[in-house]
Amino acid sequence: MALRVGVVGGGQLARMLIAPAVELGVELRVLAEEPGMAASLAATAVGDYRDAETVLAFARDVDVLTFDHEHVPQEVLRALLDAGVAVHPGPDALRFAQDKLLMRARLDELGMPQPEWAAVAEASQLQDFLDAHGGRAVVKTPRGGYDGKGVRVVSAAAEVEDWFTALAEDARGGELLVEELVDFTRELAQQVARRPSGDLRSYPVVETVQRDGVCAEVIAPAPHAAQRLVDVARGIGESIATGLGVTGMLAVELFETADERVLVNELAMRPHNSGHWSQDGAVTSQFEQHLRAVLDLPLGEPSPRAAWSVMINILGGPAEGGLDDRFAGAMAEHPGAKIHTYGKAPRPGRKVGHVTVAGTDLDDVAYEARAAAAHFDA
Ligand code: ADP
Repeated sequence: MALRVGVVGGGQLARMLIAPAVELGVELRVLAEEPGMAASLAATAVGDYRDAETVLAFARDVDVLTFDHEHVPQEVLRALLDAGVAVHPGPDALRFAQDKLLMRARLDELGMPQPEWAAVAEASQLQDFLDAHGGRAVVKTPRGGYDGKGVRVVSAAAEVEDWFTALAEDARGGELLVEELVDFTRELAQQVARRPSGDLRSYPVVETVQRDGVCAEVIAPAPHAAQRLVDVARGIGESIATGLGVTGMLAVELFETADERVLVNELAMRPHNSGHWSQDGAVTSQFEQHLRAVLDLPLGEPSPRAAWSVMINILGGPAEGGLDDRFAGAMAEHPGAKIHTYGKAPRPGRKVGHVTVAGTDLDDVAYEARAAAAHFDA
């Protein structure tokens, strides 16, 4: 009988697990938040992932449970383990992707290079950090942030007064994370797949470009990367995957600085936007690899199939309609571009698809990918 993988969350990451599941002969089931989501083709249930009963009922018929996002509460994850469900990544690893303060403290213990940071419970502590770091810093809510929401560059504690107020009103209390404002030359991402049995496979380090806190473009592998940088990034990724006991795909977002340091920004324990290029540019895509890893099957080769891949996200524009025409136009003019759509309503700023071009010359590949993606500009 086919192995069954359950995915909590019905977004585009779950959707992109569907094709490799079909190819591998794996049965994919999805617990979607609501009907009609990106992964609705495989959705077998709709329900609240914060409710233990709902998730337990969904997990009853699967061999392994995994995730499209990191928001399933620890209590629910523990209840699943207690019921004997195989959960990958497990709660002990996932908590470091759920809480940036826990992550910073644990990565210090593992000796990973990081921005200077502190946990601050009140404005005076934040002001002390600002005074000690040239008057500017980055403040983050430890939990629930994504695409730059929950991240503010500040030069005065008053700029996050609302966050301190929310903390004070939260019965659980809590602290904000403050980090030095890193003067990075570029952002990188390192992906590693790890099986429960411990076997690892690392993807080439890639360059990521963010606009307004959202990933806009990924170049794989990262251009102008000295062997030392490649080795350092890979070492960080593998140390974190092993040190935290991650199972499935891990993405480590990194900053590269002018003085050649590589610092960890944050972690994701699931397929990640920085790895979408691998669908069309690597021997084994991150989505296939995630399925293999969580099922504890032998991992696939992660090396590139082409010298260069460039992936560009397509964001929904102000126009509600017209997306289909734009897809058709991009396909007509750029037959070498791989166009991926998520079946989502195009709200402004929302990721609705991506374009990847792979080839031998970086300038040509980047030009083609950007020209194809430009069909979707507002
Ligand atoms: P999210 O969880 O919302 O993706 P991140 O922690 O990845 O938030 O931050 C979003 C973006 O903000 C990063 O990609 C980077 O461009 C910028 N950023 C985050 N932390 C720092 C920092 N310490 N110094 C400089 N820029 C930062």
